[in-house]
Amino acid sequence: MRLDLRGIIHLPGGVKTFEFDLDLSDLDFYGRKPICEPVHVKGKVENRADMLILEATASSELDLLCDACGKPFRRVKTIEVQRMLATELQDEEDDDIILLDGSILDAGEVFTTEFVLEMDTINLCREDCKGLCLGCGADLNTEPCQCKPDMDPRLSALSALLE
Ligand SMILES: [Zn+2]
Ligand SMILES: [Zn+2]
Repeated sequence: MRLDLRGIIHLPGGVKTFEFDLDLSDLDFYGRKPICEPVHVKGKVENRADMLILEATASSELDLLCDACGKPFRRVKTIEVQRMLATELQDEEDDDIILLDGSILDAGEVFTTEFVLEMDTINLCREDCKGLCLGCGADLNTEPCQCKPDMDPRLSALSALLE
């Protein structure tokens, strides 16, 4: 998706709106492809006193595995993007400014990068997921741990004595 901003680059107050879907279903995260639904991008570029401001949201429903209990779950993820655009870079170090290719904004590339960088490294099916017991594998959200506590050897000696 390439967006031509020629009409507003030199037009203070000019606005260009856009809306498109991004297919990121092939992107691999740790052997899974969680962005199975199209990422819907909607926003605008506005010329404010000769500064080009990009404002948009990108949203998709992710197909995830809980890192605690291993259950698959889905969650809508929406990110907000607000960046300045420029036709030439004044300061090479400024990573916040997106450089246009002439009058063209490569919106597909911009939103692919933004969305991927906002992907969580840890996903929980719910905030307080208790996960699985490392001993017995019980799902601690739904069942009690089945592990038998190791008996204190002094107590087992004592119980043998009492029998
Ligand atoms: Zn979970
Ligand atoms: Zn257990």
